[in-house]
Amino acid sequence: MEEFEHFETIAIRKQINRTENREHSVPLYLTSSFVFDDAEQARALFADEIAGNIYTRFSNPNNSEFVEKMCLLEGTEDGLATASGMSAVFTSMAGILKSGDHILVSRSVFGSTHQILTQLFPKWNIEFTYADISRPEKWESLIKRNTKMIFVETPSNPALDIIDLEWLGKLSVKHKLILAVDNCFCTPYLQKPILYGADLIIHSATKYIDGQGRVVGGVILGKKELIKELRFFARHTGPSLSPFNSWVLSKSLETLAIRMEKHSENAYKLATFLENHSQVEKVKYPFLPSHPQYELARKQMKLGGGIVTFLAKGGLERGKKFLNAVEMMSHSANLGDTRTIVTHPASTTHSKLTEEERKMVGIEPGLIRISTGLEHIDDIIKDIDRALYNSIS
Ligand SMILES: *Cc1c(COP(=O)(O)O)cnc(C)c1O
Repeated sequence: MEEFEHFETIAIRKQINRTENREHSVPLYLTSSFVFDDAEQARALFADEIAGNIYTRFSNPNNSEFVEKMCLLEGTEDGLATASGMSAVFTSMAGILKSGDHILVSRSVFGSTHQILTQLFPKWNIEFTYADISRPEKWESLIKRNTKMIFVETPSNPALDIIDLEWLGKLSVKHKLILAVDNCFCTPYLQKPILYGADLIIHSATKYIDGQGRVVGGVILGKKELIKELRFFARHTGPSLSPFNSWVLSKSLETLAIRMEKHSENAYKLATFLENHSQVEKVKYPFLPSHPQYELARKQMKLGGGIVTFLAKGGLERGKKFLNAVEMMSHSANLGDTRTIVTHPASTTHSKLTEEERKMVGIEPGLIRISTGLEHIDDIIKDIDRALYNSIS
């Protein structure tokens, strides 16, 4: 199906081969292993002399379909699906780094990524340094003799800071470093890190790729030789994505483009509404001209995405009252759902950071993160407006 060049068409039409039942929708392969035709075939499969499924921890048709689609959409040579976004993050790092290596990481990253770096990697003598997103001129001086990888999230969660991928791609080439980008907030529909030389692209498929709050999953995409190394790691450590979750995620990709268009449209309207609201102190959204990196966001992102953050007047106390006053929207820790979700990062997703660390990564105590859903924008705005007025003390 490589003949299709449009994102939507690939996402909808790229499928694994039909069985003799002539099904229109891809069947679910709930099988833990596959049978061999004969002893010679079994030997050849295990020796990697021929391609084919052996055991679902290694590969499965549903898993391959999801990965192949993701490779076409991100523009990468190869990929690997994992049981969660965190197993994708962990595999991409631990499958490559060894004791004594150093990794440079953008400040801030997802909470559990922070825990891997600070609590687990010291056990294996893997070092890391956080680089300040607002001071790119400093990054080069943080690269050490043993630095092997740069790992970033852009836009960052929840500060929505943007990292210049073109600049970072050049820096990685200059120092011969592996550039890994967590592209979770954008999906390949809004941002293609491969265009700037990213070696590995990581997703929590739980978020926009599923997009309907049903399954947990992850995927790593990138250059053939790196994925080969990671596949070895995953095959023997076992963070494989289940056939069922792979099937759900493959189906979800069929609506990814249209969902990202609508998430972005709703989020832009919401951000504009909040920016003009008398009870709101500040709003951040990549495609609002008031975003400090508006030009950069416009350059590397197709649309602004679904995440908006804001600070209601009255700080932390007002933020809490706002969350309790919400009626329609879900108060939850997920994002990227059809349903609009409000989150208070300081007391939930980023509660493991110290007050000082939160300040450094732009999480003010009262900051509210909104994952704008696909409900009618007027209803989302109505709920937020009502909650803002009902939380005035
Ligand atoms: C949610 C998230 C993860 C972790 O993904 P899980 O699927 O929850 O394991 C990693 N990175 C980012 C940016 C995320 O938002």
